Amino acid sequence: MRHHKLFTPGPTEVREEMLQVLSTPQIHHRSKEFSQLYDSIQEKMKKLLYTENTIFVFASSSTGAMESAVINGVKKKCLNCVNGAFSKRWHQITQMNGIECDALEVEWNKAIKPEMVKEKLDTGEYDAVTLVFNETSVGLMNPLKEIANVVRRYDDVFLFVDAVSAMGGVKIEVDKLGIDMCLAGLQKCFGLPSGPAVASVSERLLERAKEVPSRSYYFNFNIMYKYHQRSQTPVTPPIPQLFALDAQLDYIINEEGMEKRFARHEKMAKVVQEWARKYFDIYPEKGYESKTLTCIKNTRNISVKELNEELMKYHMRISNGYGPLKEQTFRIAHMGDLNVQDIKGLLAVINDILQLE
Ligand SMILES: *Cc1c(COP(=O)(O)O)cnc(C)c1O
Repeated sequence: MRHHKLFTPGPTEVREEMLQVLSTPQIHHRSKEFSQLYDSIQEKMKKLLYTENTIFVFASSSTGAMESAVINGVKKKCLNCVNGAFSKRWHQITQMNGIECDALEVEWNKAIKPEMVKEKLDTGEYDAVTLVFNETSVGLMNPLKEIANVVRRYDDVFLFVDAVSAMGGVKIEVDKLGIDMCLAGLQKCFGLPSGPAVASVSERLLERAKEVPSRSYYFNFNIMYKYHQRSQTPVTPPIPQLFALDAQLDYIINEEGMEKRFARHEKMAKVVQEWARKYFDIYPEKGYESKTLTCIKNTRNISVKELNEELMKYHMRISNGYGPLKEQTFRIAHMGDLNVQDIKGLLAVINDILQLE
């Protein structure tokens, strides 16, 4: 089967070197070797997130980590910021776990603004906020810094951030922003296969988890922390992906360099967004375009499905719009280990297929 280069917002391309690391012989998850791997990931993840917080490794995809945040971290009531499919999912997760919550919902092409969050928190009803930093379904980046600055003013309100399609591609300074939980999976900007999720968790979140009535075993922070202290996970983790995560973090921090990696993502975003504005339009409101993927408004009424079929003849693949936005939009991911040349190549082929000049 011929490989199609993935310009999709998850899963993303995995480098040849990483594919090789994934075939490292298995080690036992209760061995000293595993604990060394665990500690190494701890140390590097803290650098990537500019934090002193504990790093948890989940043997589940990001959605599990999202679930764990609200299960362990809400005592009173949660405010779920909603402006896309993944933030809506977080609201549903909160509801389905029987946790008190409200949605702060805006149109999907609009960003959540700090004033809206402030107005809600002023009621004093909430002790937690969930925010999807980069809404992958609509290619929109919410103003994380400004929102975090608001949330920080309320002493007992915790901030949980889904950074699934941003972590490893965009700078996130967890401690400076005061993020209590910042979570992601590996199949987006890390450029690794799906499997585990990672998250930073604050000291006060670990404290609160002790007081919240237990709602889960698999996602119980008290149990996870107990094993964390031995540099282990409570359940058998996806060990190949953790080998790859350790190697990829090494590459990000010591070879490519974090600043360079973030700059490369900005550069790729700029190239795609200039192209999108020239031939189509961009779905999210101006100023909030994502730096890791672009959601393009299908103003030319092309068949996105057919475009993708044509692209596959060139061994490339992009994504249709998400859910209700299918065919009305399409998404080009510029995340992970793709480079500007890859992106320019893709756009040239699209121009050729659509006979754009
Ligand atoms: C991909 C994605 C998820 C879901 O991740 P899974 O690994 O499928 O659980 C959640 N949030 C955002 C913003 C995403 O991009």
